[in-house]
Amino acid sequence: MDWARQGCDVCRSAWERGIPRDALSLLGVSDELHVRLHRCRSCGAYWEELERYASHIPDGEAADLISNPSFVAYPQKPMR
Ligand SMILES: [Zn+2]
Repeated sequence: MDWARQGCDVCRSAWERGIPRDALSLLGVSDELHVRLHRCRSCGAYWEELERYASHIPDGEAADLISNPSFVAYPQKPMR
């Protein structure tokens, strides 16, 4: 998927700048799959953060990841 079509301006710029990540909420991690799952607070897009890059993933893929036994969910702050 083209970078410009992934997520929205808010979450793309959060990744591009590296910091701050306020726009993204960390849903959880899987050490086994080496992935961190984030969700944009603005557009609701799911993002998987791998070791070298981050990518917007479809909701179904995010659900699969969340249901993976290796996935550890993080406590969520309320959405703003
Ligand atoms: Zn977004």
